[in-house]
Order: sequence, then structure tokens, then C-alpha cells
Amino acid sequence: MHPAALWKALPDRRVSCRLCAHFCRIDDGQRGLCGVRENHGGALFTLVYDRVAAANLDPVEKKPLYHFLPGTTTFSFGTMGCNLSCSFCQNFSLSQPPRQGKAIAGQRATPAELVAAAKGAGAASVSYTYSEPTVFFELMAETADLAHARGLKNILVSNGFQSPACLDALAGRIDAANIDLKAMRPEFYERICGARLKPVLQNLVRIRELGWWLEVTTLLIPGDNDGTEELTELATFLVKELGPDTPWHISRFHPDFAMRERPPTPPETLERAYAIGREAGLRYVYVGNVRDRATSATHCPGCGERLIEREGMGLLAARTVGGRCFACGAAIAGVGLP
Ligand code: SF4
Repeated sequence: MHPAALWKALPDRRVSCRLCAHFCRIDDGQRGLCGVRENHGGALFTLVYDRVAAANLDPVEKKPLYHFLPGTTTFSFGTMGCNLSCSFCQNFSLSQPPRQGKAIAGQRATPAELVAAAKGAGAASVSYTYSEPTVFFELMAETADLAHARGLKNILVSNGFQSPACLDALAGRIDAANIDLKAMRPEFYERICGARLKPVLQNLVRIRELGWWLEVTTLLIPGDNDGTEELTELATFLVKELGPDTPWHISRFHPDFAMRERPPTPPETLERAYAIGREAGLRYVYVGNVRDRATSATHCPGCGERLIEREGMGLLAARTVGGRCFACGAAIAGVGLP
């Protein structure tokens, strides 16, 4: 156990966790909703500070981030635990066991060891990912500070359900983020994820204000969040509140966790969502979890030339020059584009 950050003492040895937008009030001896923060005698502790459950060297495109240091690798790690309980979770073996009272697996790895591993592997960045990094905030924050000190960038891959205090604490530590916007209906977040939509929308706007490079992902689940009206509303929010240069990743659902009876997202739904995003004014829309060169490519917003091609999860070819279209010279939004 390791002392937790961002909590307040309450009467009768209760505590209020201030890390995510659930703001759990936790009795002595109990855990919060995420299952990885526990009240011991009126003080809050994290159970995952020394429990790294997954670590890999990934192409940054896999996060997915398509406009941040493309073609580089990112040292990615996560612990178990999540503050949401999405029934379609594609990483449920990492995210859900602590919520179900099961053992919290993982190995001890200090922030210094994690950063040394990232440097040794030649990564350009460290990614906090796989489960929900908010719930391993203490390990993330310390690692991020060391990573910056050693010239690495920091990437947050998250459901966007942090508290305002958590985002403030991450402000100078994170350089880029991919945030899920899972739906535009509050009912979806409440029924399927055990969370709320409003904090996610507010956090997306706040992240834009913080100046992190931001990309957004939406997993399309047949019959739940793939209606034309809802997708139009979502794409319009991205354009109006975050700007037309915000890349939007539309991701294909495959049956998982408690949603095994649902079919995968049909190709025509992905095509429709792609068209909706472009029509709403988004300059960079991508379809993920499928192998399609056309919808995973970056096209010039000026002349339409296909500029950056990807295959699988990696960069294939880039025809930009100093972040500009080789043909018409239009600037392509992003950080560290070739
Ligand atoms: S991180 Fe969120 S879910 Fe976990 S204890 Fe704190 S407020 Fe509750």
C-alpha cells in the first residue's frame, strides 16, 4: 500500500476521494468504486502503486495517436483497475477484477525503473494506458516527472472521467492524450459504463485549454451509440468545442466482456460515421480496428492529397515536409510531424 493523493478526511474516519468524478465517500476499511483505493484508519491508500500489470513497447499509432510524434515508439504500461464498468470493455481482464473484489495482480516497478526501460527501448514517450490511468495516478505522476526530466514525452490514454483537481495535477505532466468519448447520451454512460457524460465533456474542453495534443476515440456499438443523429451531435461537439483539427478515431466494436451477444460493427456503420465526421467539419477522421488504407490515412485539408499512410498499427509512408503538404504547402495539425 502507498499513500494516495487527492483525498479529504471526513468525520468518523471516513474519506472523500477527489481523484475522479465519482468522488467516492469511503468508510474505514472499505474501497472506492474502482477497487484500488482503500481507507485505512481514516487515510486513503492506493493498492496499485507497485503493481504494474502490463508493459509493452508500442507504436504511438496504437494508442491511437496519429498526429503526435508519428512513427515513434512509446513505452506503455498500466496497472489493474478502472473507475468505469463498461459492459463492452475490450480490456476487462485488466480493468475489472479489482471492482469485483478479485486479486490485484502486477509486479513492482519503480518510476525510475519504468523510465529507464523506456529510455533503454528507444521510446520517444511513456504512455499511461491499458486500463484507466486515473486510478494509478500516483505512479503515473511520479513516472511522468522523471520521464520529462529525461527528455521523454508523456501520453495519457483515458476515459476522461477525472476530477478537475486530477486534471490540474496532471496539467504540466502530460503532453498528449487520447480520450474516449463513448457516446453523446447521458443514459449510455449511466447504464453501460456506470458513469456520467457531463464530466467527460467538461474534461475534453479543459484538456484543450491545457494545451495537450488531443485526439478522441469513439467505439461504435451496434444499436447503442451509432445513430446518425447522435453521431452528428458528437462530431459537431468536437468541431465546435475542441476545433476541426481534433483527430477523431472511430473504432470497430468486437464482442467482449458482458456484451458477447452483440455483433461487430458493420462496415457500412463505420463508413457512415466517417462521412458524418467529415461533413461536420472534422479534418482528420480515422477508422480503427480494421485494415483500410484509405480511412486510416491523413489527407491534406487543403488539396485532399493522401499524405500519411498507415498499415496495421504503424506508419507506412509520409509525404509531408516539415508538417506541411508536399503538394500545396497546407499545414497539417500535430506535433513532430515529418
Ligand atoms: S478514483 Fe474514483 S472510483 Fe476510485 S476511489 Fe477515487 S473517486 Fe472512487
